Amino acid sequence: MAELRFYALREVFNRQLVDDHTITSKISVIFAEKVFDKRKMEKYLTREAYQAVTAAMEEGTSINRKMAGQVATGMKAWAMDNGATHYTHWFHPLTDATAEKHDSFVDFGDTGGLVENFSGELLAQQEPDASSFPSGGIRNTFEARGYTAWDVSSPAFIVGHTLCIPTVFVSYTGEALDYKTPLLKALAAIDKAAVDVCQYFDKNVTKVIATLGWEQEYFLIDEALYNARPDLILTDRTLMGHQSSKDQQLDDHYFSSIPERVNAYMREFETEAYRLGIPVKTRHNEVAPNQFECAPIFEEANLANDHNQLIMDLMKRIARRHHFRVLFHEKPFAGINGSGKHNNWSLKTNTGVNLFSPGKNPKGNMMFLSFLVCVLKAVYENQDLIRASIMSAGNSHRLGANEAPPAIFSVFLGKQISSTLDEIVEKVTSRKMTPDEKTELKLGIGKIPEILLDNTDRNRTSPFAFTGNRFEFRAVGSSANCAAAMIILNTVVADQLTKFKKAADTLIRKGTSKDEAIFQVQKKFILESENIRFEGDGYSDDWKKEAKKRGLSNVTSVTESISHYLAPSAKKVLIGNNIFTERELEARVGVEYEKFTKKIQIEARVLGDIAINHIVPTAIRYQTILLENVKGLREVFETKVYEELSHARKDLIMEVSHHISQIKQKVHDMIEARKVANKIAGEKEKAIAYEKNVRPFFDDIRYHIDKLELIVDNDIWPLPKYRELLFTR
Ligand code: ADP
Ligand code: MG
Repeated sequence: MAELRFYALREVFNRQLVDDHTITSKISVIFAEKVFDKRKMEKYLTREAYQAVTAAMEEGTSINRKMAGQVATGMKAWAMDNGATHYTHWFHPLTDATAEKHDSFVDFGDTGGLVENFSGELLAQQEPDASSFPSGGIRNTFEARGYTAWDVSSPAFIVGHTLCIPTVFVSYTGEALDYKTPLLKALAAIDKAAVDVCQYFDKNVTKVIATLGWEQEYFLIDEALYNARPDLILTDRTLMGHQSSKDQQLDDHYFSSIPERVNAYMREFETEAYRLGIPVKTRHNEVAPNQFECAPIFEEANLANDHNQLIMDLMKRIARRHHFRVLFHEKPFAGINGSGKHNNWSLKTNTGVNLFSPGKNPKGNMMFLSFLVCVLKAVYENQDLIRASIMSAGNSHRLGANEAPPAIFSVFLGKQISSTLDEIVEKVTSRKMTPDEKTELKLGIGKIPEILLDNTDRNRTSPFAFTGNRFEFRAVGSSANCAAAMIILNTVVADQLTKFKKAADTLIRKGTSKDEAIFQVQKKFILESENIRFEGDGYSDDWKKEAKKRGLSNVTSVTESISHYLAPSAKKVLIGNNIFTERELEARVGVEYEKFTKKIQIEARVLGDIAINHIVPTAIRYQTILLENVKGLREVFETKVYEELSHARKDLIMEVSHHISQIKQKVHDMIEARKVANKIAGEKEKAIAYEKNVRPFFDDIRYHIDKLELIVDNDIWPLPKYRELLFTR
């Protein structure tokens, strides 16, 4: 086995740089060449069909059968002109990966030969019989059928020789089985709620879209080393491995020059991304060795999310061409930084206004502040639900681990905005404001934009930070589908915007002027959500104490976190805003528990296998070498000398033996705990048993393995070590 490690290391040292298929034309020329966007639609569709699709894209109108037929014909023609032979409905099941089932265009023609065919029905709807996807029991109770239906708001694209049609995935009875369906509902909810509030300030606002700019972090590992680590292959993370003497202490990787081999890889996947219309913009080294980041220009949230899923897929595939493996796991290596996926989020009107960008005048700022206070209140009231949306087996290693957002939710605003809010609270009293007070307040509010320009204070420890013209939701995990977070965030904010309007309308109906009513509600929201605002160090212990005093929750348990999806307040928001039905919500939570259980189960098995099949035999081999050595000493030396010499060896034998026994015992106990957990019927209870009774063994077992790694002869150690995984490339 140890041979595999050394063979892998030799491979790495002999690696040739893979030709990076360098971008030969300008990015602007290749951009979106594989996307059936408006430009191509105009060319390939009848005028009628073009108008029907653009109306559906922009206003959400539906496309009738006849038009769907015409669109399908045009789409097929474009796809075939660009080398496609197959098509697929591309969707986001609840597995954190996208799914596709390819069908060829061919069909028997009238004369018996094969012809390429693609009808409106095939475009609009398909029945992939995807009965193995998690559904939380929804499909089992009826028929094992799921349907995919075309999401017109996200354009079709070609990957390889396949035309991919972004779709939603629903059950036979209409329940959502994917991320996209509720995301589209949440985006519609925030559109409506935000337009209603905008109407106070600008009658021209008729549509509001949520924007998302994700920052994807990832690790790159050489494939030879990866292949010598069963834990990486099967669980995406290392379940053991002693820290390298040097890792990220010197911060010498962050933003340093990108290694040539990595750069070639980045260029290639970025080129493919450009062809698929993904506007990637930024690439850099991250904090941990061999950790990197990729970020695009932000887009409409649904499209941005499709693009994130697509690029993760691209990155995985193209990594292989460069003999890399990409790790999206939130914590592939203990002791060094994990990976997140910051979700930069904002709202934009059809009039081109960013609602989280302070306006140019008091009126604009009144609008900005109205939205801001709704976000504050939404995060405050729904901390547990928001956390539930980003919590997972992988992400739980990051949250609260002092290098990533804490498991306590708070919002960072920066000094300037904070003091503006305090000013509103102070000036707006329950009695009517005098004209002077009003002018003064408006003047104060009018000052925001200039002040913000030099507002450079950035708080990296906040899970949810205002960064001048958007919020940065930092707690999202690197492997997650952003939709989970975006569904919840957009819904809870939509919910508050609706409440905001209702409260203001009530005051207006009672005779309060519009401006004053808005101020009053802002003040109310500011006061009610005060506890969520925090400008200090989110990693500090003081904050934990302070947060507790404020009544903010701090949940690090995955199963407890998931359970908050079903809290009465969460149901009220999610079901009340028609994002989920009760059944859908329960099913989704069931899937989350199941995913957690399975991840921990797999990790436990892999850990047990490696411990018993790789580590213990290696330790025994080393022990035998030591024993032989002691025996030899006895034969050669007289007793006194022998006793002196053998002392250290005997200690070492004892130490090795101790760790071997501990590993054997703990693996045994872990297996017993698993057996008990496996017998539990309820998904929730089973997940809890796995979290409480199985998972704690991981660190315990690992401790002894890592100790052995330090003492066992390097020549026989079977697994590539952290220093090799992280520093060879
Ligand atoms: P950081 O300092 O966090 O690395 P960047 O300038 O790299 O910030 O931007 C991070 C992301 O924020 C980018 O993907 C960018 O497109 C996105 N972003 C900027 N403005 C908005 C916005 N209005 N809505 C959504 N995302 C945005
Ligand atoms: Mg960022």
